[in-house]
Amino acid sequence: MCEGRIRVWVGTMYSGKTTALLEYVMMRGDKTQAFKPAQDTRDDRDTIFARGGIGISATRVAHAGEILEFVDEGTEVVVVDEAFMLPGIVSVAQILRRKGLEVCLASIALKWDGTPFRNVAELLCYADHVVVCDEAKCTCGARASYNRALLPMEEDIVPGDGERYAPQCARCFVKPLPGVSDG
Ligand SMILES: [Zn+2]
Repeated sequence: MCEGRIRVWVGTMYSGKTTALLEYVMMRGDKTQAFKPAQDTRDDRDTIFARGGIGISATRVAHAGEILEFVDEGTEVVVVDEAFMLPGIVSVAQILRRKGLEVCLASIALKWDGTPFRNVAELLCYADHVVVCDEAKCTCGARASYNRALLPMEEDIVPGDGERYAPQCARCFVKPLPGVSDG
């Protein structure tokens, strides 16, 4: 049996994490299955896209447990994009690794309020390999470490791109906008 692995690419929005993950997986060339959260409503396509137009088809799942049902015999690499949106992903990544699969996940690590997503924090503890992607720049030009919300936010997870969030450096990052609950 192959030795399983958990590999995680983390970073802010626009940090290059999905591109780096897909480039790695395509370089591997093994039998791959990809998954993305059904909660990610930014587009309705069953594809994980990265910059440069590369993409791989993906199955949408609402809970990480569904991944276990979809993974075929013979699959060697399981790809998961936007892992922070998937409840149960920490256990599922470990189950797949125990079966000898390589699990490759991309995710932001911090919520819009600057605190960690708990499941991503745990994922990093269990990972065999972590890449922190740092291509995103703050408007001041410094390296971005946070995702700042540009609109009032009611929940931890609200899908969105540049209209809702902006990458921001540690110096410029400020706490939530006025009128937004600090919970
Ligand atoms: Zn800045």
